[in-house]
Parts: sequence; structure tokens; C-alpha cells
Amino acid sequence: MLAFLTDADLPTARVAHHGIGLAAHAAETDEIGSILAECTFAPDQAGFTAAHSSALNPCIGEGWIAAGDASMTFDPLSSQGLLHALFTGLAAAEAADAFLSGDTTAPTRYQQIMDGIQHAYRKHLVLSYSSETRWPAAPFWQRRRSGFLTRTEPRYRCGLVGAQLCFMRGCCG
Ligand SMILES: Cc1cc2nc3c(=O)[nH]c(=O)nc-3n(C[C@H](O)[C@H](O)[C@H](O)COP(=O)(O)OP(=O)(O)OC[C@H]3O[C@@H](n4cnc5c(N)ncnc54)[C@H](O)[C@@H]3O)c2cc1C
Repeated sequence: MLAFLTDADLPTARVAHHGIGLAAHAAETDEIGSILAECTFAPDQAGFTAAHSSALNPCIGEGWIAAGDASMTFDPLSSQGLLHALFTGLAAAEAADAFLSGDTTAPTRYQQIMDGIQHAYRKHLVLSYSSETRWPAAPFWQRRRSGFLTRTEPRYRCGLVGAQLCFMRGCCG
């Protein structure tokens, strides 16, 4: 599988939106290009999806609790989605159990945990991106050093423009 991550409004995204363009773009790179040539990259299916950070706020309501991707999504760089899904699945179940046993503050505590996760995630994301200095002239990286990542993107509002997209293409068989 070949994946390419960029911002949907950058010119590179338009090139990579189509399978042929993505393969050609990847072939131009030093590292990935030589790997694709070596393994005789044979793309079959292609697709794209939004992969930006988002947070549902609040994550609790009357009779419901959001966990996993339904509560927050994470930048692919973080690899945090699975851990978050497992952790919040358990935490949401415990909160629901406590609430049904008479502890009416349990959902609020769950929300506080989620606020803490979001705060720590944003902080670490900025630190992670700012530690990469190899491409100072590239818009994708310039944005990530100029406050782009500290924006809070309300869940479901983000369309394609400005979102981070993940393009994928089958590979190598
Ligand atoms: C290509 C890709 C690569 C990823 N790589 C990583 C990685 O390397 N590390 C990492 O940590 N995370 C990764 N993630 C993110 C991770 O997969 C998700 O964050 C995680 O799976 C979320 O778990 P979830 O249980 O919240 O949601 P999901 O895994 O999406 O599960 C939701 C389930 O609910 C079902 N469902 C939906 N609607 C209904 C309905 N109405 N009724 C009944 N069932 C319904 C769906 O079919 C699905 O089975 C990746 C995601 C993608 C797409």
C-alpha cells in the first residue's frame, strides 16, 4: 500500500488525487521512488479520505457517550487512534456503568478525561511537527510551524479544503 498525506487545498493534492498522478509523484522521490521501481509497483485500487484531527465537544450527552473515532480523530503522524479507541471504549463503559449505578458525576469525569487527552494531543502534535526541519520551503511544513495545528476544528465542519487527506494506492501484491 502506498499512502500520501497532504493538505487538501495544496496543489500537490490535486495531482495526487488521481491514481496515475500519485504514482508518478511518488516515482519522482528518491527513497519511495526506488522502492516502487524495485518492487514493480502495480496499483489496482485507489481512494482518498480525510485524515485530519477533530474533536466532538462535548463527548457526552443525555443517554449517550462518544468513544473512539466518534469522539476524536488524530493526525496519522500520531498513531493514536487505536489506543484512543481501546482506552475510551473502556472508560466510556465504566462511566456508563457508574452512572447507571447512581453516580451522576461519572459522565462529567469522562468529559474531563477527554479534555485532558485533547490538550496533551495538541501539544505533542505541535512538538512532533516542529521537530521536522528538512523542508523549510514546503507549504505543508511551513503551515505546521505557524500555528496551523493549534486550530480547533469542530467535528464535521471540516470539508475537503484545509483538511488533511490521506491518499492510498494498492501496491506490490
Ligand atoms: C487507513 C488507516 C490507517 C490507520 N492506521 C492507524 C495506525 O497505524 N495506528 C492507529 O493507532 N490508528 C490508525 N488508524 C485509525 C484507527 O483505525 C481508528 O482510530 C480506530 O480504528 C477507531 O476505532 P473505533 O472503534 O472508534 O472505530 P471503527 O474502528 O471505525 O469501528 C466502528 C465500527 O462501527 C461500525 N458501524 C458504523 N456505523 C454503524 C451503525 N450505524 N451500526 C452498527 N455498526 C456501525 C463500523 O462498521 C465499524 O466496524 C488508521 C485508520 C485508517 C483508516
